[in-house]
Amino acid sequence: MSDDVELADLVTTDGARTVCRACQWRCALAPGETGRCHVRVGTNEGLALLNHGLIAGATIGPIEDHGLWHFFPDSQVLGIGGWGYATVADQARGPYGSIPEDPAKRRKLDADRAANFALERLCRGVVWAYGEPAVNHEYMRGLLQLSRASSRYTAIITTGAMTEEALDQIGHYLDGMNFDLRGFSDASYARLGGLPNWQGVLAIAERARNRWNCHLEVTTRIHHGVNHDPDELRALIGWIKDALGPYTPWHVLPGDAGSETAAATMRARRLGHEVGLHYIYGAEPNQPTRCPACQQIVITRTNGGARLTGLTGTACSACGHETKLHTSIFKPREGRAVAG
Ligand code: SF4
Repeated sequence: MSDDVELADLVTTDGARTVCRACQWRCALAPGETGRCHVRVGTNEGLALLNHGLIAGATIGPIEDHGLWHFFPDSQVLGIGGWGYATVADQARGPYGSIPEDPAKRRKLDADRAANFALERLCRGVVWAYGEPAVNHEYMRGLLQLSRASSRYTAIITTGAMTEEALDQIGHYLDGMNFDLRGFSDASYARLGGLPNWQGVLAIAERARNRWNCHLEVTTRIHHGVNHDPDELRALIGWIKDALGPYTPWHVLPGDAGSETAAATMRARRLGHEVGLHYIYGAEPNQPTRCPACQQIVITRTNGGARLTGLTGTACSACGHETKLHTSIFKPREGRAVAG
């Protein structure tokens, strides 16, 4: 059980139950009841966090490894994460769903030590990369705050399962997000996600982009027979273009090893270009980034590394087109207003 954890104002009481507002399930927990994430438990005092400070993974490597290709390219980042998921599909299949029972495998790392570690190892940033950040909200929030205080950039890899109020608690300290968009229909999210209302994840991505000026990249894994329908994909791509902007990178990956999925993934990429996204990437190695206007290569990628080869600042060095890469932690902290 956690001890002195500040619950970041995301807990309210509902009669005899404690309502957790970290993710969109909004579980109402009687003492002893466990939330859908399996890592937060109701108590007489409120809520206990079983996963707080327990680290599921920690690595140092290029930011590109975490699906962020237009965000501080070629920088080294501390990737860190904890236990627990919000979506039913991840709880069933993801590697970070269950806290190890063996105490020897429970690695603990305080948020301030993690932020200091990133600084000492000369990492330019910190990314929450393993497990769902929403169900690790209190730890993640502390890590992002401390990392921004030492001028590291911050990012999260997420399904978008957090609540708006949880996002608003980290928005000031959050620079980037890779948003794992699983499809664009009730049926796709029933198979590949599992949240009370899948459109809620779209609202989180839009709020991160529009209210908090976060850099966003979107990842979609295509599964033939589930989320490969062209009409669904056209709607998904149209939403990226309209809600997040046509310069939003879209990473389109095969969700399984089947040949039909491989073909569907290629069709999805072609659709992305037809609808008007400027940056679309697949699973193959060493894909460059080209200027959307003149097609000059602006970022070269080889063997996991990236080199800025055709840029003046963030503009194409050949034609001057603004590529909208994100390379600075200095940005307007709040974007245009959104409802709510
Ligand atoms: S994090 Fe989500 S699933 Fe877990 S207890 Fe809170 S509302 Fe429920």
